[in-house]
Amino acid sequence: MRLLEQPEILSTGCYLQLPLKLTLLDDAIIRSNEPEEVLTFRYKELGNRFIIPWRKIKGKLRRLVLEKQRGLNIEPECALKDDLCMKCPSCFLFGGTGETSKSKVSYNILSRVYGETFISETEAGDITPYTQNAVREQDLKTGQALMSILTVPKETVFIGVVTLKDPTPEMAAILVDNLNRMSRIGARSVEWGRIKMEIEGAYLSDREVLSGYLKLKGEGKRMNESRPTLQNIEGLELPEVDVAYNTLNNQVKDLIKSLEGIASNNKE
Ligand SMILES: [Zn+2]
Repeated sequence: MRLLEQPEILSTGCYLQLPLKLTLLDDAIIRSNEPEEVLTFRYKELGNRFIIPWRKIKGKLRRLVLEKQRGLNIEPECALKDDLCMKCPSCFLFGGTGETSKSKVSYNILSRVYGETFISETEAGDITPYTQNAVREQDLKTGQALMSILTVPKETVFIGVVTLKDPTPEMAAILVDNLNRMSRIGARSVEWGRIKMEIEGAYLSDREVLSGYLKLKGEGKRMNESRPTLQNIEGLELPEVDVAYNTLNNQVKDLIKSLEGIASNNKE
């Protein structure tokens, strides 16, 4: 199996998977009073683990891809969330909805970058629910707000897999470069500090084979030898990242032209 030569609109069933190791360089503090922000999860087989939802990593990654692109003066006006241009490398990789973007185009772009929940290699301790005195701004009355507070110790390692669908060398180069530039993750109710991101290798296949969950489960059962053999990133012979952005930008423009052609034919 090889990387595609050109970006495609329709899926060709080719997946480039990059298993990642994310190490916290600082203690992270999780304060949460919303159920969706729960950042530990009790797995049946893995026990209680810290988790990082994919959307938090994806959000940061997309921002980095966009910043770098702006630095190269490619669609510098493209911005999250409502000002997506729908015709740049970043929009092509992460997707967007034509109707809701300011550019008001007749097509949508599906994300080519997929991820999963990142899981800590080690089990998390028990979480103590924490009751904080909250003051209501309206009448200054005090009340009780239940929130949980939890420290994730520095050097905690999380693993997870990022998958690039229908990858070309240019798309892979942009993804790899920006993953390597990731030095921090942050979010509303979590103060994640500095991180170190390592790409353990690459795996190219006609399906999604790797998952952090399966790896951790396998380690518990000493089934690690059945894990597929990874390829070195260097072995992919990816183009230099600035060149990759410019090439992909031209390719995406051509693809969009063909899409717009289809849309205007349908209207006639
Ligand atoms: Zn864009």
